[in-house]
Amino acid sequence: MQLKTLKNTNVSNKTVLYRAPYDIGVKKDGNEYIIKDNSRIVATLDTLKYLMDQKCKIVILTYVKRPDGKVVEELRTTPHAKELGKLLGVTVKKVDDCIGTNVQAAVDSLNYGEILMLENVRFYPEENEDNDEFAKKLCEGMDICVFDGFPQAHRANSSTTGILRHLPGVAGFYFQREVEALNELIESPKKPFTLIIGGAKVSDKVDAVNNLMDKVDNILVGGGTANVFLKAKGYEIGNSFVEDVFVGDGEKKDWVQYAKEILGNTNKVHVPEDVVVSMSIEEPIGVRTVELKEGLNQNEMAVDIGPKTIQTYKKIIQVSNTVFLNGNMGVSEVEGFSDGTKQIANALADSSGMTVIGGGDTIEAVKAYGDINKISHVSLAGGATLEFLAGKKLPALEMLKT
Ligand code: ADP
Ligand code: MG
Repeated sequence: MQLKTLKNTNVSNKTVLYRAPYDIGVKKDGNEYIIKDNSRIVATLDTLKYLMDQKCKIVILTYVKRPDGKVVEELRTTPHAKELGKLLGVTVKKVDDCIGTNVQAAVDSLNYGEILMLENVRFYPEENEDNDEFAKKLCEGMDICVFDGFPQAHRANSSTTGILRHLPGVAGFYFQREVEALNELIESPKKPFTLIIGGAKVSDKVDAVNNLMDKVDNILVGGGTANVFLKAKGYEIGNSFVEDVFVGDGEKKDWVQYAKEILGNTNKVHVPEDVVVSMSIEEPIGVRTVELKEGLNQNEMAVDIGPKTIQTYKKIIQVSNTVFLNGNMGVSEVEGFSDGTKQIANALADSSGMTVIGGGDTIEAVKAYGDINKISHVSLAGGATLEFLAGKKLPALEMLKT
């Protein structure tokens, strides 16, 4: 896959509309709001520094969460601008709109090499509709679009596909890193390739698993996902969380049935041989390790993979040259239920192969328990990551190909 990239484009002294991936939630800190997590801002610093060195006027566009087409005070981009300024050591200017005369005046008065943050584009209802008139207004006075909104690339919005219709567009460095790493998983993974799927729901991940099925050598399941497979195998899993029926797109899907089909079609799937159980998912009550061949009691829930499973999974990871992890191995936010996730995260960190992780909760867990700096690629794009791996076309990405 060939992308139009920043390095292959002359941007010097241009006014750049920088599509940032700053859809980051905020929390209250005294009287002001601050962002919850700066990973997506850190991920864009190299692109922004490059644009500053190229003496661009940098105008940042993003949406933040779901204000539903109206102004919501706590969803302004002000905390995002502050955090970016802090990380770059410069003042990031801020304007309280994303189109119109105030924006034009702020862009005009910007010096080359300076940064201006626009207001949350989702304050306008036109954004979600990919309204073309609105997209045109977003592009007024801009020379080029540098696109780092990979986590938004699966959406056709005015601030994604819309702006790319009206401006020449190139991928920023962060966007390029995501596409290159994820593309390697699809196109040319070094074998053996191990896919580790956990977390709460099967439905989020099933399309990606299916698309990678022929390329992977092993699929290790953990967390709530494992429960579905264990049930499909006929094990007694007590009161464990199981996403058994999913209603979507007008169809019902029985995930246990589906897991049966997968297990019938391939022998690549490994399920836990033992699990840690508790009578509560919120705190450790009556915790013990149970072998699946013995089964859980009716009031017990699987909350983590057990020690034997951890050892089996670690051995597979050790001999793998590519590993992708999405979803934690248990309810890792609760102390006492986090060992599986911790040990699998460490096994990834110790691997000399290519390691990729994705998913908000997974990244949180690896940050908390592992060494995230030893992971080859941390995909910050959530749903877009999974759609990419599922082989779906991401509309904004399509427009950034050569
Ligand atoms: P990600 O955000 O990394 O994509 P998910 O959102 O799919 O991951 O899943 C994370 C959630 O899965 C966590 O809140 C965790 O508590 C939950 N989970 C993991 N294992 C279990 C389990 N055995 N039973 C219930 N919930 C689980
Ligand atoms: Mg999650």
